[in-house]
Amino acid sequence: MQEKVSIIGLGAMGSVLAHLLVQEKLAVTVWNRTAAKAERLIKDGANYTDDIHAAVLASPLVIICVLDYAATTEILRDVDIQGKTIVQLSTGTPQDAREMAVMMQSRGASYLDGAILATPSQMGQPSTPIFLSGAGKAFERSEAVLKILAGTLLYMGDAPGAAAAWDLAALSSMFGMMFGFFHGARIIEAEGLQVAALGNMISDISPVLGQMVKSTADDIQQEHYTSPQSSLELCALSFELMMRQAAESNIQSPFPVFALELFNKARAAGYGEERLAAIMKVLR
Ligand code: NDP
Repeated sequence: MQEKVSIIGLGAMGSVLAHLLVQEKLAVTVWNRTAAKAERLIKDGANYTDDIHAAVLASPLVIICVLDYAATTEILRDVDIQGKTIVQLSTGTPQDAREMAVMMQSRGASYLDGAILATPSQMGQPSTPIFLSGAGKAFERSEAVLKILAGTLLYMGDAPGAAAAWDLAALSSMFGMMFGFFHGARIIEAEGLQVAALGNMISDISPVLGQMVKSTADDIQQEHYTSPQSSLELCALSFELMMRQAAESNIQSPFPVFALELFNKARAAGYGEERLAAIMKVLR
């Protein structure tokens, strides 16, 4: 029998999700607040309804991808979700996910919380990641369908907030590196060098950067801060140099200022001769 799936939300991401399932010949029912966004999907073979009750009723599996959790709550306010498997792919915080799980459970639905770590054009690839957490049964029931949307399903256990926590932690790691890169790009520009070449170089050394993150994470996990190969003080000195270079080249320095503030707190706390991981003690 053809698998039935309802997709709630046809923004940039939701419409791609629906399209991927239609392509695989699933029986896809779609709903969106603004009806016009369903037009192309209807042509491609999706069933459309402007009635949210009918959209949820149409399938045992309901995937929601709207702006945020407040929109999800509003959309489902009066809808009967008893017995449904509901997968939330809107982005939120762990607390959003926990509250949503309580609400879903109290209304008889099985709830899986998800966070997509990709752009719409990257969906449907074997390497596309989605973090998932919540009811194990909901994961089992939706796994085959979700695999069509993203080949790399990372089920992080039954705590509903886990997927959102992993997502935000991954985003922080990724964008943290990007802000360092932007400052590096200004240094390169100030010297009349090519930013694209910096991009190539960082890409080439990315396994080494990954190793640094991994070993620092191990240090934190084991509370191992002593006997550094490069002390926190030595790392801080790089940022003193960046501050001086910024002044000499007349470029802005918000990123080194931010990092030095943390380094200075760590120095003041007496962690100068410890490992870089000791920054974590300042943050705690
Ligand atoms: P869009 O802004 O393109 O679409 C937002 C969707 O939410 C639309 O369907 C919109 O309906 C709906 N919506 C917003 N508010 C309400 C409301 N109060 N009631 C009913 N519907 C509402 O966003 P995306 O599709 O890009 O993103 C959707 C989710 O996916 C977000 O949580 C986002 O963080 C996540 N995501 C997106 C990624 C991306 O690269 N785009 C990457 C990873 C995750 P309408 O059309 O009527 O306005």
